Amino acid sequence: MLLQVKDLKSGYKGVPAIHDVSFEIKKGEIVVIVGGNGAGKSTILRTISGLIRPTGGEIVFDGRRIDQLPAHEVVAAGIAHVPEGRWIFGRMTVQQNLILGAYTQKSEEERLKTLEMIYRIFPRLKERREQVAGTMSGGEQQMLAIARGLMSRPKLLMLDEPSLGIMPKLVMEILEMIREINQRGTTILLVEQNVHAALKLADRAYVLQTGRIVAEGAGRELMEDERIRKAYLGM
Ligand code: ATP
Repeated sequence: MLLQVKDLKSGYKGVPAIHDVSFEIKKGEIVVIVGGNGAGKSTILRTISGLIRPTGGEIVFDGRRIDQLPAHEVVAAGIAHVPEGRWIFGRMTVQQNLILGAYTQKSEEERLKTLEMIYRIFPRLKERREQVAGTMSGGEQQMLAIARGLMSRPKLLMLDEPSLGIMPKLVMEILEMIREINQRGTTILLVEQNVHAALKLADRAYVLQTGRIVAEGAGRELMEDERIRKAYLGM
């Protein structure tokens, strides 16, 4: 087991946003959390990555409690978080953005090796390495944000709605890229509103509703679940 979240409670300024959420991720899996606007998906990721402190429950990563660690130690432990909205540095080049993602690696040689690996997965970023990041398309910026997350060589990559605001053609490309990253050995936790695409990609999925997990199962199984189809897939 790579990640175990048990009875997690979290929120903002005393207002709870997630209630007793429990789930787990095995090494090598792609796990998806789906749910509508405001269900608490981003809050779960922010809590795991140490940006907000849980008010209850525990988070165990790779055999170790991490729920009291500051965010930079969570990164060092092997978790990368690609937040919603991408947050790249628009005035810096693609390559400068990537190098920033490798701050946990001390040696220059190590960082350059990681960069080469990233460019093999994202040839488009290699072509554009000198381009100012803010001038790239939304989809390209999303790829950059994912690639920057990978620069810390995480065991677990957490992605917050990578398909948001991206044209449909690129959405498929990005989801394929996530599959490739997974096949190269990185475990994935993806949160998505794009339920149909996400469930196709998932080994397992959890459905979150107003801060609670209301269903779980194999991606394909959930896609066939009558309730899920009605509530999320418009069928
Ligand atoms: P979306 O897909 O719309 O981003 P989400 O499932 O990621 O939704 P969260 O962003 O985790 O949902 O929000 C869960 C709840 O927490 C919502 O009620 C939201 O209003 C609240 N919330 C989120 N961020 C903050 C914040 N910074 N301060 C106060 N409340 C917040």
